[in-house]
Amino acid sequence: MTKGPAPRPKPATPEIDAAPMVRCAQCGVHVPRDRALSQDQQWYCTETHRLQGPAARDR
Ligand SMILES: [Zn+2]
Repeated sequence: MTKGPAPRPKPATPEIDAAPMVRCAQCGVHVPRDRALSQDQQWYCTETHRLQGPAARDR
């Protein structure tokens, strides 16, 4: 039997603090940065949108 130290409860840290939101350059949705994909200093919500690149909204 293992008799290690009792498991310490994790401090209740709001996940929002640990995961700043970024905006997908393709569709504009906000996603946690640790789940977003970055390319060319842009962020994307999914691999699909990363491949599509930034939305063409120049005008
Ligand atoms: Zn997107």
